Amino acid sequence: MTEEFKPRTKLVHGGTRRSQYNEVSEAIFMTQGFVYDSAEQAQARFEETGPDEFIYARYGNPTVAMFEDRIAQLEGAEAAFATASGMAAVNNALMASLKAGDHVVAARALFGSCLYILEKVLVRYGVELTLVDGTDLEQWKAAIRPDTALVFFESTSNPTLEVIDIAAVSEMAHAVGALVVVDNVFATPVYSRSIELGADVVVYSATKHIDGQGRALGGVVLGSKEFISGDFFNYSKHTGAALSPFNAWLMLKGLETIDLRVRAQTEAAEKIAEALHGHEKLARMIYPGHSSHAQHDLVKRQTGKGGTVISIDLAGGQEAAFNFLNAVNIGVISNNLGDAKSILTHPATTTHSSLTEEQRQSLGITRGLVRISVGLEDPEDLVADWTAALAGA
Ligand SMILES: *Cc1c(COP(=O)(O)O)cnc(C)c1O
Repeated sequence: MTEEFKPRTKLVHGGTRRSQYNEVSEAIFMTQGFVYDSAEQAQARFEETGPDEFIYARYGNPTVAMFEDRIAQLEGAEAAFATASGMAAVNNALMASLKAGDHVVAARALFGSCLYILEKVLVRYGVELTLVDGTDLEQWKAAIRPDTALVFFESTSNPTLEVIDIAAVSEMAHAVGALVVVDNVFATPVYSRSIELGADVVVYSATKHIDGQGRALGGVVLGSKEFISGDFFNYSKHTGAALSPFNAWLMLKGLETIDLRVRAQTEAAEKIAEALHGHEKLARMIYPGHSSHAQHDLVKRQTGKGGTVISIDLAGGQEAAFNFLNAVNIGVISNNLGDAKSILTHPATTTHSSLTEEQRQSLGITRGLVRISVGLEDPEDLVADWTAALAGA
């Protein structure tokens, strides 16, 4: 598939490889390995592997390669490597790029497991870490040093939906030669312009919008050919967090519909944010696509749209939040996001319960905060159900 095709065309046809049967739907190559025609061919394959030559599924597999090529085309990246989960993607991108003595600057508002890799693993191996308030460019400026090797942040933070200026942070990082790694889950692959804006490496949990139907874990790392095929590939192939061909097939089929799903979910989120804004039971309604968002201008420049997640802060604290969650009929109480089903989460007692109260407070994760991942249900039903649940909270 060539550059000139539009994203939706690439999402349906990009990366397709057909077997000798010319199947319509992509084949699942459920195989760990590949046979060689001769001993010489085996030797040659280990010396240099061509783009459609495979050795072992830990290194690559045709179904996985179809998924990697398709998402790389959408993201505008030269190359991609798929991993067993989003966390494996984050871990591989960071571990493969850093060594003892390196300095890393990261935004403080991170998914708990990302924070674990930085604070508990990398620091243990001698990496120096500085955490900043990612929305404050002055803090990035003060923290990035001539010896900073890497910066890492979620382009939209979970669950308070703060948006980080990718272009501005990338410019500061590149001025000292640091690698910019962006966890882009909340921006979604549909609205992402991260590489164009300056990110060197983009990471997704495919578990979220890419699958979008709550079926499997997966992840992907995108970047230049040089990055993906270099130390990163060696680290990834030797440490083994490869994506299963079956899960790659789910993600591949997820990509066929991701544009339609994410746009419909975002449109619904816009309507719901409008309906919930200023509701008497709410201390705050946070939605990057709403004009009340603190960085609405940046959102317009960076992704154009606010995405599929809204956070609301109930004035009545945890009791009100629990009453609301228990009164909701449409949507489920769970902790995934980007799903066809609306998912409601109480971060303080679930996804962010391992943080201290002090940490939660500094991140704005109050007891009243509920994260809502808007699904594919009819938005009118969602507004009616959720406003009724709020009224009783
Ligand atoms: C879910 C998530 C991850 C981890 O992905 P898994 O597929 O669950 O391993 C990492 N970063 C962000 C921002 C996420 O939302």
